[in-house]
Amino acid sequence: AKEAGRGSYSLYLPTMEGHAPAVLQQEHLLRRAVREQQFVLHYQPQVRVDTGRLHGFEALVRWQHPEQGLVGPDHFIPLAESRGLITAIGRWVLREACRQLRAWHDEGLPQVQVSVNLSAIEFRQRDVVADIEHTLRECGLAPRFLEIEITETALMQHADQTRETLAALRALGVSVTVDDFGTGYSSLAYLKRYPLDKIKVDRSFVIDTPQDADDVAIVTAVVQLARSLQLQSVAEGVENPEQLALLRGLGCDLAQGYGIARPMPAAQALEWMRQQAR
Ligand code: C2E
Ligand code: CA
Ligand code: CA
Ligand code: CA
Repeated sequence: AKEAGRGSYSLYLPTMEGHAPAVLQQEHLLRRAVREQQFVLHYQPQVRVDTGRLHGFEALVRWQHPEQGLVGPDHFIPLAESRGLITAIGRWVLREACRQLRAWHDEGLPQVQVSVNLSAIEFRQRDVVADIEHTLRECGLAPRFLEIEITETALMQHADQTRETLAALRALGVSVTVDDFGTGYSSLAYLKRYPLDKIKVDRSFVIDTPQDADDVAIVTAVVQLARSLQLQSVAEGVENPEQLALLRGLGCDLAQGYGIARPMPAAQALEWMRQQAR
């Protein structure tokens, strides 16, 4: 794989399906990665659209592959999910994100939040909320600083259990964002039924704004929908000032994207925070 610089990665992997030797080899390496914790989190800032001030970071996992360098989540999360490794990786991610945030708070940095992605499989674990509570306590981090991102598709399965889990998270004080909004089921009823905090407009709708009138209409509708349901709106994939201006006009609450900052290692995120504060 070639190092693409700027903390990104590029890697070709064969399809994750089936039992091709290359996939088995990758599974073997991923098991070892879990044992040896060959992972790292990169942090991407989320800012308030109206003031430009930092709200928090989304924690995004990367695999420090022994031969291939930094491997992005799209290249191993599906394999981890199909091979029963996602829970172990998710636990590491949660603990590391909470530990890092607590360390930043201890350094007297702004009391920012961290968002952690939970895959559907993790969200379905019976003990997921107890696990989160335990990790927060262990890291000495108040629940209000943690945010969970769950895809719309994951929220649509097993309505009763979903409602229970979301209610338990709410009771704990952890907030929940619907990720990739608009790319999953078209039913909107769940927005009303579940205790949720934020809707994240998928980046596929943001990327061609403001040029693409259809996408502008979609982003506008989602931001308005969020507001009428008293949810906060987050736009991801914000790559330029024109998009930020559009979102400001629409009254979107939070924005995230390469145009603001790329996901970066903790040390760089710390530097970024210090620069913002100056
Ligand atoms: P996501 O949750 O939708 O995360 C946003 C993705 O968009 C990230 O890709 C981020 O680097 C990328 N991105 C951010 N700003 C821009 C932009 O302005 N333009 C473009 N084109 N892309 C942007 P990344 O880090 O490769 O993550 C991909 C996906 O992997 C995530 O999508 C999420 O679904 C999953 N993922 C990442 N970390 C974790 C994790 O710890 N656990 C689980 N279960 N899934 C994770
Ligand atoms: Ca996310
Ligand atoms: Ca997303
Ligand atoms: Ca995604």
